[in-house]
Amino acid sequence: MAGACARACAKRKAITVEPGKLTVDADRCIKCGKCVDSCRKGAMTGKNGYLLTFGGTFGSVVSPGRSATPIVFDKTTLFRVVDAAIDYFERYAEPKERLASTIKRRGWDEFQETVRGAFEAGEAARDGTANSAKNRL
Ligand code: SF4
Repeated sequence: MAGACARACAKRKAITVEPGKLTVDADRCIKCGKCVDSCRKGAMTGKNGYLLTFGGTFGSVVSPGRSATPIVFDKTTLFRVVDAAIDYFERYAEPKERLASTIKRRGWDEFQETVRGAFEAGEAARDGTANSAKNRL
């Protein structure tokens, strides 16, 4: 049924369907994949991945999760990014401090640079593995 994707995205309202045209507003899209799952015609496609957000809530202090990397598509990169976030926290957290507070105190850019570096290293390692596998064929 045409427009199933837009109905699946009713909360975010990221999809606009006009005759012969479908538009996804990248600023509204949170990459949840509901539109892909809803499309029986296969017009909406995508692949599974991990959308990592960093933040959290502690008592009345709310720090909405923020994405620090693009979507991660493999477990090697996933673990590199998570390890980098844990290392950052171990290195910079003050006693009893939560990760969101550490990031806020030191600045988002430094944290993002840390995990982004791990993401890029993971992507490079994955690409290297893929290339060496291709070379063996
Ligand atoms: S991925 Fe989620 S938020 Fe993005 S367009 Fe599809 S349903 Fe909407």
